[in-house]
Amino acid sequence: MMIDYIVVFILGLCVGSFLNVLIYREAKGESFLFGRSYCDKCKKRLAWFENIPLLSYVFLRGRCRRCHKKISLQYPLVELLTGLQFIWIYFLLKSNLTFFSRFEGFYSLLSLLLYLGIGACLLAIFIADVKFFIIPDSAVFFAIFLGLLKLWVDYRYTGMIDFSTLPSAGLTALFFLFLILLTKGKGMGYGDVKLGFLMGLLLGFPDILIALFIAFLTGAIVGVILILIGRKKLKSKIAFGPFLILGTVFAFIYGQKILFYFY
Ligand SMILES: [Zn+2]
Repeated sequence: MMIDYIVVFILGLCVGSFLNVLIYREAKGESFLFGRSYCDKCKKRLAWFENIPLLSYVFLRGRCRRCHKKISLQYPLVELLTGLQFIWIYFLLKSNLTFFSRFEGFYSLLSLLLYLGIGACLLAIFIADVKFFIIPDSAVFFAIFLGLLKLWVDYRYTGMIDFSTLPSAGLTALFFLFLILLTKGKGMGYGDVKLGFLMGLLLGFPDILIALFIAFLTGAIVGVILILIGRKKLKSKIAFGPFLILGTVFAFIYGQKILFYFY
């Protein structure tokens, strides 16, 4: 049956539409709470049929119906990415982690929603940092809230709790704060400190170490490549958030396997 995947995909498209608003308005310092209801260019209100994820962009052929200016490709792209991400998360939980066979019913559904929510926040942070060099506070704080909620839900339904998560969160944030002081703010920003806290909270020990290792390694490799091909100068800015998120996702999926290999 594919119906579950279709439902998850459509949910992803709708959440992606919301992420667009969040990214765009945080970059401009506006409130994001009231949906994308107007055109970026002519500021006219959009009708409901101009606000349907993915479909509106296709039907309108990428242009505003009133001012005929181009609609940023970011909108359909983020919607599609979120849809695909939701399918990916659902697939991972359903197959690789044998999620739905281990835990039944309400707990599985609740956990799935929490994972999807956290995934969506990480995607928003990834895109916002690549495009605008910002780590949206709303996305980080909401993900931290969901992470804490997940700890509570896990404890409530399985009786198990990972006591390493909160110390990992605090220590990672402190470590990044120390790096900021050491590099006098040239290396990373306070957004990374909050993101570090989130990483520790989601991963716990020792997975957080795998995530940090992957983040610093891939960050260094991509940084050197960008400098070598002349896209960046030694002193120019490279967003570090995307590498932290890459490391987090990698550690989340492969952490257990890697640890199993070493023990
Ligand atoms: Zn317009």
